[in-house]
Amino acid sequence: DGSAALTATRTACPYCGVGCGVIGATAAGARAVAISGDEAHPANHGRLCSKGTALGATVSLAGRLLEPTIQGRSASWDEATALVARRFRETIARHGPDSVAFYVSGQLLTEDYYVANKLMKGFIGSGNIDTNSRLCMASAVVAHKQAFGADLVPGCYEDLDLANLVVFSGHNAAWTHPVLFRRMEAAKARGQKHVVIDPRRTDTAEGADLHLALAPQSDVRLWNGLLADLIRRGAVDMDFLRDHVDGYAAVITSLAEDDQSPAAVAADCGLALADLQTFFDLFAAHPRTVSLFSMGANQSAQGVAKGLAIINAHLATGRIGKPGACPFSITGQPNAMGGRETGGMANTLAGHMDFSPEERDRVARFWGAPNTARAPGLKAIDMFEAVRDGRIKALWVMATNPAVSLPASGAVREALERCPFVVVSDCVETDTTAFADVKLPALAWGEKDGTVTNSERRISRQRTLFPPPGQARADWRIIAEVARAMGFDGFGWPHAASVFREWARLTAYENKGRLLNLEGLTRLDPQAYDALEPVQWPVDTEGRGRARLFEDGRFQTANGRARLVPVRPRGPAEATSDKFPMALNTGRIRDQWHTMTRTGLAPDLCRHAPEPYVEVHPDDARAVGLTEGALARVMTTRAEAVAVAKLSDRQRRGSLFMPMHWTDAFAPAGRANALVAPMTDPSSGQPEFKHTPARIGAY
Ligand code: SF4
Repeated sequence: DGSAALTATRTACPYCGVGCGVIGATAAGARAVAISGDEAHPANHGRLCSKGTALGATVSLAGRLLEPTIQGRSASWDEATALVARRFRETIARHGPDSVAFYVSGQLLTEDYYVANKLMKGFIGSGNIDTNSRLCMASAVVAHKQAFGADLVPGCYEDLDLANLVVFSGHNAAWTHPVLFRRMEAAKARGQKHVVIDPRRTDTAEGADLHLALAPQSDVRLWNGLLADLIRRGAVDMDFLRDHVDGYAAVITSLAEDDQSPAAVAADCGLALADLQTFFDLFAAHPRTVSLFSMGANQSAQGVAKGLAIINAHLATGRIGKPGACPFSITGQPNAMGGRETGGMANTLAGHMDFSPEERDRVARFWGAPNTARAPGLKAIDMFEAVRDGRIKALWVMATNPAVSLPASGAVREALERCPFVVVSDCVETDTTAFADVKLPALAWGEKDGTVTNSERRISRQRTLFPPPGQARADWRIIAEVARAMGFDGFGWPHAASVFREWARLTAYENKGRLLNLEGLTRLDPQAYDALEPVQWPVDTEGRGRARLFEDGRFQTANGRARLVPVRPRGPAEATSDKFPMALNTGRIRDQWHTMTRTGLAPDLCRHAPEPYVEVHPDDARAVGLTEGALARVMTTRAEAVAVAKLSDRQRRGSLFMPMHWTDAFAPAGRANALVAPMTDPSSGQPEFKHTPARIGAY
């Protein structure tokens, strides 16, 4: 009746890596929220996409985990915590620290990530904690480390306004990062040029100045061809190379191993020569270029090479560390970056530290944890393989649904089934909770309190809108209680602010000039933490952030110079064959998020694509007797799925696209990632979701 006073709370959207600021208006005692965009948040200036706008429709308690359970029966927190601690302790005592593992998530807040990583790597003493960001950004992380010396994202969203040319490499920003895309559409109206490199004619490609519908997995060939062309034209920045970059001679030698004539490159990439030439001309003509890369580049058995090929073109032309010019990896998840920072990936320690004795000792000293892991743990695909073959005997899955999202998810289910002890902490029941011995109820968006880092290194607060429902608890607190029950000291934080402060202090501890430094946030008291404004790291002693890295031409390698890394084109991990002649690509759609546990609750979001579908070129459909709207059967060496056929010439001949969202709860026969082969990039461990040999037929 309008009499209830509304409280407006500034928080952040829990979906994609844009990291939009959201205002939630709530009334005391009501579990409902009116959502609007936060005009003061620099990531979105008040804009929200369909998913962010629909957040209010996802806050019901439907499907929530509200109490701990052991083998399906209700349990107290004390009992559940004691059991998890005892089973992990006993497994470690009998089989060693590498017999246990955590599989975590870019949905966790930085505080949660920090505590999980501290427990596994610092006190259990194993590297076996990996995150679903492995499926998302791992290839970009390796490329950053090789080129810049650390996992550093050079640019900021302002560069997207300032660029004269934006190249979207395997990035359907119109669907996956809509608010950023709107920003670039506005820049396009002011004259910015857009080039889209994508086998599919996506919504992003529809409005672009140029769409290069390249053959799947030919990206390295294309970017190498561009670099060779820039060299031929004399368009490389020799002063920048001399002063700031190593490896130019090696790259020239490597490029010479392939025919770099535009005709040969165009033929190998399946492109018209004139289109290729237009791309080369546009790139050469626009020093203010941002090259965005996302899942299309990263989710590949040559994902690292793709990232490096893009970065090479920028380093060679000095297009980095300058307004409107950078290679820019855009993250999928709201806190993929926070996970990378705090050591959520099996091959890094907290604070971007590696496992070198010096860096490992720095972390161990800070934690007072002499048992800190000395070697990387198993990456996601290898971790579940180790669960399946019995090397890992106790597994804790936090805030993610690997029974649907991982490749060959049938084998993942087998692994979960066989594992002697599975703990799942999550806010909702999922396909994965069905395999849990112990289920622990976690807080959801709107209840959590902590920080996330978006794609431009900006730390924002997620704030509490509602009191915790049932017995749900913050993830960091659940993990800390288990750590204490295992007998470990150093897990006694009173609130999220104190976890964050410790994390910030770690980044500043013996920092020696590293850019991941939150020095200015090391003394935040709970009030200051609560009031924290969005800020980009590094954060100086005055609390000021930095928008752009490498402006001084100094990188984070031992000699301060960036590295050009030669990369050669390779084919996909598994080639198509007579039996499986098509290339299956799985990915996201505009209005769903991950395995639909939240967005599936919003009727408006379900209207965009109400059922699992497979997009297929009309010629390919005709060849197997498929018509629009008919049920299709998609088969790979791993599994088969059923989906509605969508005939579209946006799809290249010989390719299929399936959304990855549908779960057992919505459409068990439509689970796309069950079809995907668990082949990975050898350095990053990121799976090749974009190319699984497949065949299609009528159902
Ligand atoms: Fe949320 Fe991403 Fe949409 Fe922004 S663009 S509202 S962060 S899903």
